Amino acid sequence: MTQTASGANVIIVGAGVVGCSIAFHLARAGARARVFDKGGICAGMSARSGALVRMHYTFAPEAELAWKSHNYFQNWGEIVGGRCGFVETGFAVVVDERNASRLRANVTMLQSVGVNTEVVTAAELRKLEPHAFVDDVALAAYEPHSGYADPVATTESLASAAKRHGAEFLVNTAVAGIIHSGERVTGIVDGVGRVHEADAVCVVAGPWTDALLAPLGVKIGIKSERAQIAFFKRPPQIQHCIYIDTIAGSYFRPHGGDMTLAGLGGWKAEAEANPDDFRESNDDDFVAAVRERLAKRIPAMADAPYSRGHAGIYDVSPDARAVMGRVPGVERLFVAAGFSGTGFKTAPTVGASMAELILNCTSTTVDLTPFGFDRILNGRMIESPNEYEMGAGFGHKL
Ligand SMILES: Cc1cc2nc3c(=O)[nH]c(=O)nc-3n(C[C@H](O)[C@H](O)[C@H](O)COP(=O)(O)OP(=O)(O)OC[C@H]3O[C@@H](n4cnc5c(N)ncnc54)[C@H](O)[C@@H]3O)c2cc1C
Repeated sequence: MTQTASGANVIIVGAGVVGCSIAFHLARAGARARVFDKGGICAGMSARSGALVRMHYTFAPEAELAWKSHNYFQNWGEIVGGRCGFVETGFAVVVDERNASRLRANVTMLQSVGVNTEVVTAAELRKLEPHAFVDDVALAAYEPHSGYADPVATTESLASAAKRHGAEFLVNTAVAGIIHSGERVTGIVDGVGRVHEADAVCVVAGPWTDALLAPLGVKIGIKSERAQIAFFKRPPQIQHCIYIDTIAGSYFRPHGGDMTLAGLGGWKAEAEANPDDFRESNDDDFVAAVRERLAKRIPAMADAPYSRGHAGIYDVSPDARAVMGRVPGVERLFVAAGFSGTGFKTAPTVGASMAELILNCTSTTVDLTPFGFDRILNGRMIESPNEYEMGAGFGHKL
């Protein structure tokens, strides 16, 4: 980060994992960072995250974000300070014949990015995972060092680190609007009409983002999709790594020594959700469906008792990829939103890259150009060459 950081005055709207990461990186670089949230720190969707930390993506720039973020999760105490609760479990994407050549191509791409991953056969997977059913598996991509983290601890730790570097958090303070003079942003106005001036504003408000951008005549087109996860009791002698199961259409991970977290995104059609008013508990038929899919891969979980669960909202962009960068039409206004159900694991390097972009006009940790807003306005959606055909209801792209 260069000297230009010093003295920059930046407002961040949203104290989720991404907003707190941006604040941490800005403050560490010497900028004045103020984070506004209508609730508290981690009041939005970050607290509901499944918090899988894997690197398998089908789009190389996203894989690079995940790979470089993985280094943060593994070395959290040294890089950020505090704890993120990272647990290394191993991770496997399993595919049948339909997706086998895509998986091979994706693993080659991921290895070129630097990700420690390899293609394994069904028999090799069975050796790694003795409790897994693998007869329907053609191939898997395995990452030995992936795992999961604690999303609340991660977000709070980023916020604490940001505060140690001088960032301010204005919680229970809604942003009612973004203000500008001519084409340049000048700050925000809060819910009780107070004006807060800034050199730059970054909107990191998840599914609420478009509501803040729309008065400026621009929006991403985010759809709010309700997504559920459930926790099941697992006999401690049954162990498994993290799975994305493209065959059954589910994802699951261990949670501590004796629980399994399993999830599906939009597993059945629902009307677009309201992020301020949605059903937060699990649907009974969701619990039955996700347990059935879990048991297809780990048969010993067929009768696993349901413990608890919840729903959250995915902020789904038009191409189900995040939008990060400058907001067209308003100078010094930035956005990082539309993470579409996958934004937890990349938050560390999204924060580093967004801070660079805001302070230095270019991002070097990871070049965010491919995620720019222009693609939405120009209708040039991100398409991965080897996107998987997913089992029904998995809920988002890889
Ligand atoms: C059920 C579920 C499971 C998931 N599992 C995974 C996973 O396994 N791995 C993964 O990588 N990702 C996962 N995700 C996605 C990931 O959790 C999100 O992409 C990430 O948490 C988004 O963080 P954020 O900071 O962008 O948004 P949020 O955490 O939603 O933060 C936005 C903040 O903006 C604030 N805000 C909104 N409007 C205003 C306003 N006008 N004024 C002030 N503040 C405002 C809100 O109060 C909120 O605190 C999952 C998501 C869900 C819902």
